[in-house]
Amino acid sequence: MGTLNETSRGMRTAIAFLGRRNAGKSSLLNALVGYDLAIVSATAGTTSDPVHKAVEINPLGPCLVIDTAGLDDSGELGQKRIDKTMEVINDSDVGVIVVGDGQWTGFEDDIVKRLQAQKRPFIVALNKSDCYEYSTLKKQLQQKGIDAVVTMAVHTEGINELKEKIRSLKLGEKDESWAIAGDLLQPGDVAILVVPIDLGAPKGRLILPQVQTLRDLLDHNILALVVKENQLANMLEKLACPPDLVITDSQVVNEVSAALPPDIPLTTFSTLFARFKSRGLFCALLEGVKKIEQLEDGARILIAEACTHHAMADDIGRVKLPRWLREYTGKRLDFEVAAGPALKRDLRQYDMVIQCGGCMLTPTVYQNRVREASSLGVAISNYGLVISYIQGVLPRIISPFPELRDLSRELTGIGL
Ligand code: SF4
Repeated sequence: MGTLNETSRGMRTAIAFLGRRNAGKSSLLNALVGYDLAIVSATAGTTSDPVHKAVEINPLGPCLVIDTAGLDDSGELGQKRIDKTMEVINDSDVGVIVVGDGQWTGFEDDIVKRLQAQKRPFIVALNKSDCYEYSTLKKQLQQKGIDAVVTMAVHTEGINELKEKIRSLKLGEKDESWAIAGDLLQPGDVAILVVPIDLGAPKGRLILPQVQTLRDLLDHNILALVVKENQLANMLEKLACPPDLVITDSQVVNEVSAALPPDIPLTTFSTLFARFKSRGLFCALLEGVKKIEQLEDGARILIAEACTHHAMADDIGRVKLPRWLREYTGKRLDFEVAAGPALKRDLRQYDMVIQCGGCMLTPTVYQNRVREASSLGVAISNYGLVISYIQGVLPRIISPFPELRDLSRELTGIGL
């Protein structure tokens, strides 16, 4: 779980610096950030494993910069480093291919192919531009439709242009209209957030999905009220008009749904995040819920949590969700928990993957998880959707989403 005064990793633009050894990736990264973040050395191969750093880059805003090992690394260890560097592309929003000697080789071609296959926007930085004649290569790249910026990191030359290019790539790639909940309401509408303060709640603060939802509502000029589940009835009585949306922690969705008049829209934090992070892939997560009915004895379920928070005695992913699923299906189900930003396992060994809200993941990483599971034929869903399904309130929980309204009616019709 993240701290309150930092932008979570999931809200940052991930920029990967890629290229051969000694191209000046680390120097360029330092020049872009404005201070010495990465170790720079004239010795080829100084950066071994990818290094992720959360930084603020003016005018790009919160970013996650990723320094990588050289793609021309050699030997068995070198190949492992190259594989890791290639994996970084999957998790990045923008790639910067750094060329430090004026040569365009098969390594650069491979990176471009990988970036294009992953549909990642990228820019080429012709770095150390004082050491070679760069105009011919720049022209050749232009003919291939590849944009290049001429830089000299040690003298911070070309850095502003590089920032601008990254910004335009980022804006082209990201649809800023996505919101956590603000797009479901009008300015001046009222939203109530139901936040249980139980044993699982961290001491002295709210958890990140709750904080980010609150901020999103305020950004959209929504009137946001926060209550504990046992204060909801009192709050409803005090309001002159019913709220326009109630957002609850999934763990108490059943109680909140029962206490709330049926005409008041209700959803959960986890469901909001599943939609926000998966973007256009929300339906795949909803589809994944159907797998619950097909689970047999011995079915293997992966609980995917995107952070390594300290699990409490009655932890949702490790204790409650497995218990509820076993009770609901009446089957002997095997659960495994993967905590952290990378799953690092073959998903084909599981019958189902259940992903948390992923507040610490970028939409790119979240989408990759959904795509990977789907492409392997493994059902994938989300905490909020699965819990709501088990509790019999799924149609209500997804009814606030305009894109799912027809589906919500269909689900009600077939009793899902
Ligand atoms: S939603 Fe996932 S990533 Fe966010 S705090 Fe909960 S477990 Fe961690």
